[in-house]
Amino acid sequence: MGAGRFAPSPSGPLHLGNLRTAILAWLFARSTQREFLLRIEDLDRVRSGAETTQIAELASLGIDFDGDMLRQSDRLPIYLEAVERLKARGLVYECYCSRKDIAEAGSAPHAAPGAYPGTCRNLSASERSAKAQNRPAALRLRSEVNEFSVHDELFGDYTGAVDDFVLVRNDGAPAYNLAVVVDDAFSSIDQVVRGDDLLSSAPRQAYLATLLGHPIPSYAHVQLALNAKGQRLAKRDGAVTLEEITEQGVHPANVVAVLLESLGLPSTSLQAALEAFDPANLPREPWIVEPENIVQQLMPRASGN
Ligand code: GLU
Repeated sequence: MGAGRFAPSPSGPLHLGNLRTAILAWLFARSTQREFLLRIEDLDRVRSGAETTQIAELASLGIDFDGDMLRQSDRLPIYLEAVERLKARGLVYECYCSRKDIAEAGSAPHAAPGAYPGTCRNLSASERSAKAQNRPAALRLRSEVNEFSVHDELFGDYTGAVDDFVLVRNDGAPAYNLAVVVDDAFSSIDQVVRGDDLLSSAPRQAYLATLLGHPIPSYAHVQLALNAKGQRLAKRDGAVTLEEITEQGVHPANVVAVLLESLGLPSTSLQAALEAFDPANLPREPWIVEPENIVQQLMPRASGN
């Protein structure tokens, strides 16, 4: 039996967009008889207390998980061991470039815009030791492809750039793309459901999985929640976190109902939504959130109304 997962970064309380993605990931997993796992992606952007809050919030919505929760910060040696395996095959090199160096170098010919131009790919040992005087090295993948294709259940076939992306940052922390691939394989996750802002990362991750000898999971990148200006929903948009909404007297079950409604699903319960769930019928456009309207809609009706 395979598994799906929800993998929040504990950077703050969950907002309506994160919760909607969590519900979708749960629906995809449960409707395909998969286990559903929770992973805390706390390699950076951590806010103290956020993990505990997020776990309580997911439980309050009725999203249940199987198995043990994984916390990435507990697993640092495992990521570095994967890098050692790649290194032994000559697939890793030290990179001394700053962001500024990369921006100034511009893109290599035939490379995708923004792709690492390969400045440090072929340094000699003496060039490396000279550069190492000024800056600790990040570790990059010596990619043998420029692009890679994946299949997404909602987007169809998707081909995206694969450059020599960072595996280990120059502060020694494993990079997101590495940790995701190692963890998904470790947990036998064969279904990745997440926001479509990560669609362009899927080719890199799928390619890395292949190099590490792991199967490529199935992907479903779901539409994000956006504000009225079409930007990704964020705290600046008003009362968009579950915390802010429930503080105004709204019950979490009503939040679930609004989220399910936004997905065109029966809104009486997660269970009812699960019975009706069919990915083919999901909305194909982002969900536009106007926090004032949502909170208004969710507020317990004052008497006489
Ligand atoms: N931690 C990432 C996020 O919160 C999700 C990573 C993933 O699902 O692969 O955006």
